[in-house]
Amino acid sequence: MRLLVVEDDDAIAVPLVEGLERAGYGVDRASSGAQALVRLGDADLVLLDLGLPDLDGADVCRHIRSVSKVPIIVVSARGDESDRVLGLELGADDYIVKPFGLRELIARVRAVSRRTNNEPDSIEIQRIGGLEIDRRSRRVTVDGREIALSPKEFDLLSLLGEDPGAVVSRHQIMDEVWDPHWYGPTKTLDVHVASLRKKLGDPAMIETVRSVGFRLRDS
Ligand code: CA
Repeated sequence: MRLLVVEDDDAIAVPLVEGLERAGYGVDRASSGAQALVRLGDADLVLLDLGLPDLDGADVCRHIRSVSKVPIIVVSARGDESDRVLGLELGADDYIVKPFGLRELIARVRAVSRRTNNEPDSIEIQRIGGLEIDRRSRRVTVDGREIALSPKEFDLLSLLGEDPGAVVSRHQIMDEVWDPHWYGPTKTLDVHVASLRKKLGDPAMIETVRSVGFRLRDS
């Protein structure tokens, strides 16, 4: 799946493109409205900043919509309800406000692609060093060897893999992999992490961040 990131600000675009690539997406970047229209080409989804240096982001959005059905997520620096309504009126599929986290964005990208095409989530296989995560078939291989994971182990690895190197808190993991209203002890999480480390064959692949959570080693 190819994303086109339309963003003039390097400080935002550079880490964003890197993060999306690490998460397994193919990414093109346009740093102006004019470039966006030229690079629209084979994008499967457009992430469009409304504040562009050359053209009005709203016009760019309208123009893309007039020539293509490609899903568009509009990015705005303001959380105004009017901006949100404007974005959706222009034909955008979703709306996200700066500042936003990579994980939140990826969740939106997935939700929008699921809504807008009937095909399964077509993200390519994600590679982190020798580790490969295929979310479509829910298969994991290490150095080409498939490893059998339980559903929770897979969900846990997949969540950590969304942003390698970033710490995911215990609370967040319990929330997303187990139950959104988990208030009890989280020992089950440690048990799953231990089992996952063993199966991956390299305990250092999942790092414990004391009293915070866990992160997948970014290779
Ligand atoms: Ca901007």
